[in-house]
Amino acid sequence: MQGFDALSGIGSLINMAAPEPVFSAQASRGIRLNPAHPTLQPMKSRDIEPFFATLKAANPMPVTELEYTSVFELLTAVLLSAQATDVSVNKATRRLFPVADTPQKMLGLGLDRLEGFIRTIGLYHSKAKNLLATCEMLIEQHGGQVPRSREALEALPGVGRKTANVVLNSAFGEAVMAVDTHIFRVGNRTGLAPGKNPLEVELKLLKRIPPAYLVDAHHWLILHGRYVCIARKPLCWQCGVAAYCDYRPKTTAPDSGRPGAGAGAGGQVQSDGAP
Ligand code: SF4
Repeated sequence: MQGFDALSGIGSLINMAAPEPVFSAQASRGIRLNPAHPTLQPMKSRDIEPFFATLKAANPMPVTELEYTSVFELLTAVLLSAQATDVSVNKATRRLFPVADTPQKMLGLGLDRLEGFIRTIGLYHSKAKNLLATCEMLIEQHGGQVPRSREALEALPGVGRKTANVVLNSAFGEAVMAVDTHIFRVGNRTGLAPGKNPLEVELKLLKRIPPAYLVDAHHWLILHGRYVCIARKPLCWQCGVAAYCDYRPKTTAPDSGRPGAGAGAGGQVQSDGAP
């Protein structure tokens, strides 16, 4: 685990919770519609490069919090992490991977033993079944290797577009964007990529992010959303990219002397607890 500051953090790669309906098509054109969600103009094109340059300066080599040592382990960890925290997945895979680090060994465990390793993770039963079915397909159709194409990845049981994007990006270094709950929120809230659904945000991000930042943008946005631009109340007063973000009104530091002061009191960066 690396240390993190207000910008760099270590965050989750996955987990799509229900997105916040911050933007509508009108809002994406800069029209304020919902007083409950103070909204903004879409981020100016000239602000996008410095936005990512700032994130990069704070964390030049962003990494995922999920622990893995092979593409198969990454795929497994991502598959297990839907609706769960990276911490809970790591806790389970630290015991699982030493005994099952290949599709063959994972299949050899069988359903009951596999479930014993991942029982602390939400939806473990369906995840165990999907993982074993995925291992079968990897062996039968891909020589025991994780395929590099989106189509082949999405054909695996339990693997959707987001999981495929995570594997393509983190394992194979492809410039794709896995939009999780954090990226969905940051894309909308900052005006970087307003969209009504994850796919819309994904496609806008791919279009707007300068190519030089695209491979790592996934990590930067997740980390930023997890530790700074958090769901409940963004920590604008300690945000390094506030100058480029059009979110209004910016939040201010809570009164540190007041009992029960809000998020970020004392200047500490904190996670919003989302997976
Ligand atoms: S200024 Fe606030 S809303 Fe904008 S990116 Fe930073 S934390 Fe998020």
